[in-house]
Amino acid sequence: MTHPAQPKASHFINGEYVEDTAGTPIPVIYAATGEQIATVHAATPAIVEQALSTAKAAQTAWARMTGTERGRILRRAADIMRERNHDLSVLETYDTGKPLQETLVADATSGADALEYFGGLAASLTGEHIPLGEDWVYTKREALGLCVGIGAWNYPTQIACWKGAPALACGNSMVFKPSETTPLCALKVAEILIEAGAPAGVFNVVQGMGEVGGALVTDPRVDKVSLTGSVPTGKKVYAAAAEGMKHVTMELGGKSPLIIFDDADIDNAVGGAINGNFYSSGQVCSNGTRVFVQKGIKEKFLARLAERTGNAILGDPMDEATSFGPMVTEKQMNIVLGYIEKGKEEGARLICGGKRADMDGYFIEPTVFADVTDDMTIAREEIFGPVMSVLDFDTEEEVVARANDTEFGLSAGVFTKDFTRAHRVIGNLEAGSCFINSYNDAPVEAPFGGVKASGVGRENSKEAIKHFSQVKSVYVRMGDVEAAF
Ligand code: NAD
Repeated sequence: MTHPAQPKASHFINGEYVEDTAGTPIPVIYAATGEQIATVHAATPAIVEQALSTAKAAQTAWARMTGTERGRILRRAADIMRERNHDLSVLETYDTGKPLQETLVADATSGADALEYFGGLAASLTGEHIPLGEDWVYTKREALGLCVGIGAWNYPTQIACWKGAPALACGNSMVFKPSETTPLCALKVAEILIEAGAPAGVFNVVQGMGEVGGALVTDPRVDKVSLTGSVPTGKKVYAAAAEGMKHVTMELGGKSPLIIFDDADIDNAVGGAINGNFYSSGQVCSNGTRVFVQKGIKEKFLARLAERTGNAILGDPMDEATSFGPMVTEKQMNIVLGYIEKGKEEGARLICGGKRADMDGYFIEPTVFADVTDDMTIAREEIFGPVMSVLDFDTEEEVVARANDTEFGLSAGVFTKDFTRAHRVIGNLEAGSCFINSYNDAPVEAPFGGVKASGVGRENSKEAIKHFSQVKSVYVRMGDVEAAF
């Protein structure tokens, strides 16, 4: 019998499901059991062509609709997503292995938030009037045209919506390629947009690995590329986009610092460290994986952290009591286990976890290392799994310098009761998305994105509108034209 997660077809183009079985088969594996639950096919060159030509053709009429009309469609799509939250969350769990306890509140719901928020902004995109004596300049905020979205595997619904919603609000069309690891959820976003009234061809989904992404990025009809992925992929995609002078948004990796001063509320700081390391089994780009704890509270912090980490419930992700799921794939599990071995070899002190869980699926126990030093591999490289490194520090000056000593700059957090210090420290940290006495909140109203190697541009908030639109300025002369001859 066909598994309920199996989509009708691999791609969604011009308002309908499209198949081409000549494309390389991509198995979809449920991470909690290792069972194959679905198959899709990578896009062939013919499918890529169909998606791009459809999106190009649909864009002009979409941009000519009023912002109010476009916004109404996006807001209707948000309502449909919320009505179907349970089914969409189950699909997200099949796609990623993340526990239903999380997917019910973090995935389709945050996708719906983006559709609602950008739906609300669509009608407010206006230009300026700049008086120049009797002449004037006016500006228009225009769509970029055809946008390509490329997703990572950790938040397949959210990433499709975080890219699709602002792109469509501004009057662009989009071809979205999900990660080959999690191909299912974006298809539902495309289906729902059509149901909500979006014209066929405005939001299309094609499947495939890096080469399909590469074919989309290098096509001369494409005006903008928005990628969520790793730094090495980001460098390739940014370079390919630059070749065609295309706009980019790059949401890439991180190795973010979470700094806990000795006056912090210990339980809140432990809660922040747990949210910043173990949510989605650590597969979150903004995670605060370098937890700097001031020496005076180190042992107290570690004891409370170990106790609370012991309360994680590993198990069937479809059971709402489960609070900690598997790694997305066997490959990712092995990468993370390799980092855990490195941590042990390089002399970090294992506080809890440290191995594969004794159960089916790709589960790794939530792992905490203490006495981690700045030069250790686990303190330098993005692990993308449930491995927290706790480092000690003495002074504010020292910790800020050490926190900034990384190629990444996605996020940073500070826990302290001293608000003057909190703002000063955040002001000195090289990071795009920061937190004071909290960690990993990502409301659609706030800009999200990194500095340094962690990325270019911002998602969410009014900032995202700037990255999916451009300004045209028009000089209007009222009198005669003076010329030299
Ligand atoms: P990845 O870089 O391997 O792949 C990302 C996407 O790029 C996939 O869809 C892949 O098929 C595609 N791709 C690969 N090579 C390509 C090429 N040459 N041209 C075009 N497309 C190409 O990343 P991943 O393993 O799927 O995801 C994990 C990474 O994503 C981590 O580094 C994580 O930090 C990052 N991430 C960042 C954010 C953020 O918002 N900053 C969010 C989630 C994940």
